Amino acid sequence: MSLLQLSATTLPRSADALRSSVRGFLAEEREQGRYVPRCDNWLGGIDPEFSRRLGERGFLGLTWPRRYGGQERSPLERFAVTEELLAAGAPVAAHWVSDRQVGPNLLRFGSEDQKRTYLPGIACGQLLFCIGMSEPDSGSDLASVRTQATRAPGGWVVNGSKVWTSGAHVAQAMVALVRTTPEADRHDGLSQLIVDMAAAGVQVNPIRSIDGGHHFNEVVLQDVFVPDEHVLGRIGDGWRQVTSELAYERSGPERLMSTLPLLLEWCKRLRESSAPIDTAYADAVGQLVARCWTLRQMSLAVAAGLADGAMPATEAAMVKDLGAQFEREVIEVIRRHIDLEPDAGSDDPLTRLLAEAILHSPAFTLRGGTTEILRKIVASSLGAR
Ligand SMILES: Cc1cc2nc3c(=O)[nH]c(=O)nc-3n(C[C@H](O)[C@H](O)[C@H](O)COP(=O)(O)OP(=O)(O)OC[C@H]3O[C@@H](n4cnc5c(N)ncnc54)[C@H](O)[C@@H]3O)c2cc1C
Repeated sequence: MSLLQLSATTLPRSADALRSSVRGFLAEEREQGRYVPRCDNWLGGIDPEFSRRLGERGFLGLTWPRRYGGQERSPLERFAVTEELLAAGAPVAAHWVSDRQVGPNLLRFGSEDQKRTYLPGIACGQLLFCIGMSEPDSGSDLASVRTQATRAPGGWVVNGSKVWTSGAHVAQAMVALVRTTPEADRHDGLSQLIVDMAAAGVQVNPIRSIDGGHHFNEVVLQDVFVPDEHVLGRIGDGWRQVTSELAYERSGPERLMSTLPLLLEWCKRLRESSAPIDTAYADAVGQLVARCWTLRQMSLAVAAGLADGAMPATEAAMVKDLGAQFEREVIEVIRRHIDLEPDAGSDDPLTRLLAEAILHSPAFTLRGGTTEILRKIVASSLGAR
């Protein structure tokens, strides 16, 4: 049985200055009325202008080499910036996957040309990517993707459709997982291609979520030509490349902080109240904060592991599973303690945040790997299956 590797980790002192600087930026943005804090804004809060301003201030591509527009900071410094943005409920969705996943993927598997072409644009918040993995009949069982790329002179012709593609309507490019060798083993026949969203044959159809928001899309690809220079990594290596990014995708603080703006607003309300705080409220807040802190330490430990070159996939799956449970628990605890009718259109922040959290919560245990899939990963790595 392999034991979990989660070492106690603290942020370096250098993260403090960076944290103050991002706090200053966020305060400025709020003062100028550029955003209001929202729950789950790392997925729903698509604001390309906000992403551009963040990039201008040097808060994107933080860990990447300077020659590609990065800041050469450590992953733990980036962690501090990320948690500040999430705690503030800032609209970071437009650039989220580009900064979290696509950039690191390009650094590991991209050609020198691809790094020079794409990374500086992502780092300054002007180039937005989306991720095209899921398909109408392919989600948890990702190896079953059917979008087909067929060989053509100088490249590949792609046909198929992707679904639940967050941010595809604002993205200029998509990293798509496609089948390049139909007769190969399910895993061996897959590759990653960089698809230009403005290319002929790419159609983006919006999918509205329950709150009327638009972050999801269906992306239909019909005879889309992708030149050889846009193959990411090696043909046939798509599965290995995709699975290697899952630890990044699953373990970040966004996996536990989607409802934190709601918890913070409730705490503010309790602090500002002239009535003495009920011990039941104090206990509930204490328990939530203690759980949040523990999960945060787990997420931090995974970030430290990744920074040291480890691939803590099991630990990342645990962070995602426990984090999603916590995000929902925040809603349930607050609903048990306050008599409030959730209303997404309300001027009262607590009423609005509660409604946002409720409406977004069904997605928490689906995106980035469902509960059942994550628990299978944990169980098998512990030898329980
Ligand atoms: C908010 C959000 C954003 C998303 N953004 C993107 C994106 O940008 N790009 C992208 O490619 N995808 C995206 N997705 C899709 C996401 O990755 C899939 O929803 C997820 O992988 C689950 O796949 P599915 O929806 O097809 O469900 P299924 O895989 O069909 O699962 C349905 C149910 O069956 C269970 N199940 C499935 N297989 C097993 C099994 N072997 N054992 C036990 N139980 C099982 C699941 O746990 C689940 O409860 C997003 C999803 C959400 C909710």
